[in-house]
Amino acid sequence: MKNEERKNGNETGEKNSKELPFEIDRRSVYKCVQCGTCRSVCPVFDAVGWESANTRGRMLIIKSLLEGRPPSEDVLPSLASCTTCGICAAKCPAGANPPEVVEAARAQLVKCGVTTEAQENLKSAVITYGNSFGETKDRKHWLSETERSKLPEKSGYVYFVGCFDSYRYPEFAKKTFGILQRFGVTLLPDEQCCASPLLRTGFKEDAEKVMKHNLDQIKKVGAHTIITSCAGCYTTLKNNYPEELRVISLPEFLAEHLEELNLKKLDLTVTYHDPCHLGRHNKVYDAPRKVIQAICTLKEMKNIKENARCCGGGGGVRIGYPDISLELARNRLQDVPESVDYIVTSCPLCVRNLRDAGGDIEVIDIVELVAMAIE
Ligand code: SF4
Ligand code: SF4
Repeated sequence: MKNEERKNGNETGEKNSKELPFEIDRRSVYKCVQCGTCRSVCPVFDAVGWESANTRGRMLIIKSLLEGRPPSEDVLPSLASCTTCGICAAKCPAGANPPEVVEAARAQLVKCGVTTEAQENLKSAVITYGNSFGETKDRKHWLSETERSKLPEKSGYVYFVGCFDSYRYPEFAKKTFGILQRFGVTLLPDEQCCASPLLRTGFKEDAEKVMKHNLDQIKKVGAHTIITSCAGCYTTLKNNYPEELRVISLPEFLAEHLEELNLKKLDLTVTYHDPCHLGRHNKVYDAPRKVIQAICTLKEMKNIKENARCCGGGGGVRIGYPDISLELARNRLQDVPESVDYIVTSCPLCVRNLRDAGGDIEVIDIVELVAMAIE
């Protein structure tokens, strides 16, 4: 079939209603020269061993879609099982950015109505309830009525709590806000999901509505700086929100205020897991290490910083492919050095996935370590 025919319809001239819209950056797709370097680093390929779940396989499938393959459910196991960890992009000698291409392809598939049930459930939870879990209780349920009534209505600084800390780890939210309140930080009156789950799984238009809601809330408070303790919220607020916001991760904020925090030394040895969306995607490597080393001894994992292996939780994979997701977490636990008291990380999704993998060493969020050093 000629390219023009592919663009306009099928060989009989009929328009294929499911034809993939041509909104994926072709240059980005064609940068992939199929060298296979990414084969040795893709954590999903490492876990499942299918060529179609390897970065190179995903890029080939996307290329075939651009060249006329009708979008169908057949491509979902490949394209929906990428955690968007980004290690392939970091290693690609040709400068391709596969997670960006995968996200763009997912968005086009959504437009064609090709989605998984897990993706649809996630979207509907965020759109209906404002959070990725479909929770109906108030997002600030972890604060008492009195605490809520005393929240400053205006502040230059806002703590963006995120769905995970609001509903799965309210104890992290309480500890984080307890520290941040000392610095005059407030909460949004009506925070909703940051839109990361929608963006990573391809629901771009729905994501825009949620982002607009949060932006209106930020304007209402008059905040110029957003602090967040979730790696997914961090990268989304920083890189996907349409307006320039100053976004700081909790480890960066803590590292900047170490003196004021007056932390005591603890007789502990811990290791640190770099969340992909904080580390590789945004290069926040030093701040969490600075905070940890102000408190106790840090013993590094086997693969760190740019080489850190994914916990398996991102990109909608935890919900869509729980077995693969857990396998990745189990693989990551193999990188933990011997004789450490805790595995520390800076993302609640990493905490959850690594905890679910069931290792012997307790996984904690960095705020828990800091809270121990404050008490
Ligand atoms: S994405 Fe990059 S590393 Fe992977 S096959 Fe293509 S060119 Fe090679
Ligand atoms: S982003 Fe991670 S999971 Fe996705 S293709 Fe690249 S290496 Fe594999």
